[in-house]
Amino acid sequence: MADLLVRIDGATDPVPLRDCFWVLATPDGCATVSLVGREAATAEAAHIQATPRVLERDRQTRDGWRVDLYSRDQWREHVRPCFAGTCQHRAEA
Ligand SMILES: [Zn+2]
Repeated sequence: MADLLVRIDGATDPVPLRDCFWVLATPDGCATVSLVGREAATAEAAHIQATPRVLERDRQTRDGWRVDLYSRDQWREHVRPCFAGTCQHRAEA
């Protein structure tokens, strides 16, 4: 089966979706949920996976939570610190 290729903002070449990660982040950009790319084909589908309850999901969308796709390298740089507790997102709040 052919790999689904995606082009991520800021990247020049398309990468296989299976090598990417969907990330749900708070309005201030702090990652709270991370899914491997093959678990969802769209940001909306990834959001449903990350937040199954529709009322909670709608509230997140209203409040400015975001679902974005990250390459492995971007994930390492921008998302891992959130799960490691070393990011600056919440420290500033
Ligand atoms: Zn963070």
